[in-house]
Amino acid sequence: MAPTADLALVGPADLAVVGAGPAGLAAAVRAAGLGLSVTLLDAGEQPGGQFHRHPAPGLRAARPQALHHDWRGFTGRLRRLRGDRLTHLPRHHVWSVVRAGAHWRLHAVAGPDETPATVEARAVLLATGAYERQLPFPGWTLPGVVGAGGAQAMLKSHLVLPGRRIVVAGSGPLLLAVAGSLAAAGARVPAVVEAADYTAYTRALPALLRNPAKLAEGALYGGGLLRHGTRLLSRHAVTAAHGTARVEAVTVTRLDHDWRPVPGTGRVVPCDALAVGHGLLPQLDLATALGCATRSTPDLAPALAVDAAQATSVPGVWAAGESCGVGGAELAVTEGEIAADAVAHALRGTPRDARRTAALTRRRSRLRAFADAMAAAHRPGPGWADWLDPTTEVCRCEEVSAERIRTAVTEYGAHDARSVKLLTRAGMGWCQGRMCGPAVARLAGGVPAPDRRPLSCPVPLRHLAALPAHPPSPSEESEA
Ligand SMILES: Cc1cc2nc3c(=O)[nH]c(=O)nc-3n(C[C@H](O)[C@H](O)[C@H](O)COP(=O)(O)OP(=O)(O)OC[C@H]3O[C@@H](n4cnc5c(N)ncnc54)[C@H](O)[C@@H]3O)c2cc1C
Repeated sequence: MAPTADLALVGPADLAVVGAGPAGLAAAVRAAGLGLSVTLLDAGEQPGGQFHRHPAPGLRAARPQALHHDWRGFTGRLRRLRGDRLTHLPRHHVWSVVRAGAHWRLHAVAGPDETPATVEARAVLLATGAYERQLPFPGWTLPGVVGAGGAQAMLKSHLVLPGRRIVVAGSGPLLLAVAGSLAAAGARVPAVVEAADYTAYTRALPALLRNPAKLAEGALYGGGLLRHGTRLLSRHAVTAAHGTARVEAVTVTRLDHDWRPVPGTGRVVPCDALAVGHGLLPQLDLATALGCATRSTPDLAPALAVDAAQATSVPGVWAAGESCGVGGAELAVTEGEIAADAVAHALRGTPRDARRTAALTRRRSRLRAFADAMAAAHRPGPGWADWLDPTTEVCRCEEVSAERIRTAVTEYGAHDARSVKLLTRAGMGWCQGRMCGPAVARLAGGVPAPDRRPLSCPVPLRHLAALPAHPPSPSEESEA
């Protein structure tokens, strides 16, 4: 593996891959295997993304593969990451991708000192994954309330539990995996509280039957939870968390078809932690800043629109994994491999293996059908807004309550998240609306729009000031 020290300028490589999760890692090693020079950047310390998060070596985990599927595939790809043609840059957060002559230029901040780093490449593959969708409810800002994926991430990378008696709530297939991991690690999980109705799966029977392994995985989680004494409550939600210094109990309420609480059905469940998440949202900011087209998924989330070869609408930019629509690690790997083959073909004329392409395409279509079925079944119902009381903080960064947002809509005529932001500061804080954006958009009467921000993370002003007005690429400089 090439050195990973803080480098001022890396490249130009054939391909820069942003994101070393299942999609980006699979794409990077495949592209290098096909003879391309590849630079792989990731904001995280270790490759693996959300799915293959694993403990730092210093924690000396006896079984780092515990809680993981496809560990063998992952470690195989890790070994191939050490090839000569691959430069891996961990702790590099890419904040912007721009065209610079014949190349793409990726600007990143590296490590805790936020050292500036620049990478150049002929093509870019965005594999930036997804983040959790949070819907607010009274008490959601109490200590002890954590994201469902966040609880999984704490366990996988730091080997810690957020509490001893943990309610898992929200919506989506990830809840079962999270509850299963927490219970296996020794937590008591009294209930998994799912807002959607599991019977909705029957509407997608053909997609489910094409994916028996996924069904078996779900059944395995369900069976394991029943053995641990966990109750599975579908069409229910945690509509309030209670406590003073931290969460001590939650109210679990039955929902109607639109996720409205059914009056008189709330009951209090004691706990010392709540792991809650309502599905995942594709991470799009680098792509939308480049002008890549998006599409709406069945759960109304914006995702990148890509063609059969995983190319975005911007020539020279490919995408793979959950930024193209949430669908799980196996789909992410498949898309990463398809994209790598396509980039090698586009840059070097590498012939495509027709049988391999057909097999990957079939697998992608089967897994995408399953993902779409899951997304449709777990699409948030509009009635969740009835969980809020006037004082519930919707934007926790700027402490903007539901009442202030509703006033902006009903009295000042705000009809989208942007106008609400201008009137109330909701979405203007540190997370830049990643946490409250979907909720604010819904309260304003719209659907979440794709993220549009010129910088994908906070960047020291000195880095911006140091940028030349019209930066020439190294190739332009050498031509001059
Ligand atoms: C918090 C969380 C926990 C999850 N836990 C599980 C689980 O336990 N089981 C399961 O089946 N699924 C889980 N998922 C879903 C899981 O993310 C996917 O199925 C799978 O990891 C998708 O792979 P990916 O490569 O598309 O994205 P990811 O695995 O999310 O990888 C994306 C990578 O891109 C990097 N990145 C993003 N933006 C930038 C940038 N601007 N610059 C540099 N790097 C960047 C991130 O650091 C990350 O490593 C989880 C999702 C989340 C959000």
